[in-house]
Amino acid sequence: MTGGMGLVADKVDAGARLTFDDAMAVWACPDLPLIGRLAQHVRFRKHPDRVVTFIVSRNINYTNVCWVQCKFCAFYRLPKAADAYVLPHEEIYAKIQALVDVGGYEILIQGGLNPKLRIDYFEDLFGNIRARFPGVHIHGLSVSEILYIAKISKLSLEESLVRLRDAGMATIPGAGGEILDDEARDIIAPYKDSTEEWLHVMRVAHGLGMRSTATMMYGHVETIEHRIKHLMRVRELQDETGGFTAFAAWSFQPDGTDLPIKKRSSGLEHLKMMALARLMLDNVDGLQASWVTQGPKIAQVSLEYGVNDFGQTMMEENVVSAAGTSHYVNSEEICRLIRNAGYTPRLRNAYYDDMGDPDDLPRRAADATPDLPLAATRDA
Ligand code: SF4
Repeated sequence: MTGGMGLVADKVDAGARLTFDDAMAVWACPDLPLIGRLAQHVRFRKHPDRVVTFIVSRNINYTNVCWVQCKFCAFYRLPKAADAYVLPHEEIYAKIQALVDVGGYEILIQGGLNPKLRIDYFEDLFGNIRARFPGVHIHGLSVSEILYIAKISKLSLEESLVRLRDAGMATIPGAGGEILDDEARDIIAPYKDSTEEWLHVMRVAHGLGMRSTATMMYGHVETIEHRIKHLMRVRELQDETGGFTAFAAWSFQPDGTDLPIKKRSSGLEHLKMMALARLMLDNVDGLQASWVTQGPKIAQVSLEYGVNDFGQTMMEENVVSAAGTSHYVNSEEICRLIRNAGYTPRLRNAYYDDMGDPDDLPRRAADATPDLPLAATRDA
């Protein structure tokens, strides 16, 4: 091994931090198995056991109303659209009950920027969910939603986050990160929060003890330089706060969107992207598979490219499927995929604490005890 990749390999071996130029060398390297081996070196240094985790969770998209009109989004509807919706509370509770009935214990609740939903809507909804399902963890709201709720409720960002947290929103998904570089962001989502705003919301949330994930949506107008800068910005904020639990990346799905891009990223590109993320994000513990966009097989192979977590069961998915991609796997299938790859599946919570053996899920469901030991307002 010569040149840039030789240096990268030496740094990985020594546990040294990779630079922008190192990342460019990784991306330029055609030897994908080598990149995978380096990523696995980092993965096993962080997670020595052959364990792959996942969480039994469901997505709930409480509204599809949104005025932001991101060009990559096929999910939103403008407020007056015939098929615009806000889910009735009872329907949301029924969805959560269905999750609890299969032994699940986390909801990922996200929607759009709906001008009619101020903070009292969320306080009421989250408070009611907490009262009815005290063991169900609320992982909720994208940065854009949080900023907008604060704005239309005439609250500071900090006040808004504190009120959402006190109502039961415990952790924040990294959704809306897309590409953390305004050159690309301004093209795909001109009305959305900027890179600095996204990072600032995460910084404030982490300062309040709320943990979050970080994400990336790649494969549209961005360059590899944008992707690397994105990873470095996440890494810099993580140095500052330590609040990111994990990183996930998925490829842009074009159907039904306003971006004139028809090409979908390949599975090979995804594997390289995951390995690059593992190599660059030396201070983020978890790296999630993306079976929703890449399918279960590539997600399984990504376990050899630095990935240590299979993400979440979803029960339903409305955002990526609106853009033409539908892959569904349940917890049995996730376990099968993990075991067939030579790893042991374990359940986790949103903090990545071990939650036991997935083979116990039927018993948990039969017990119908949602009050698993999850503390919704636990300090990070
Ligand atoms: S990605 Fe989010 S903010 Fe953008 S249009 Fe879709 S729902 Fe709205």
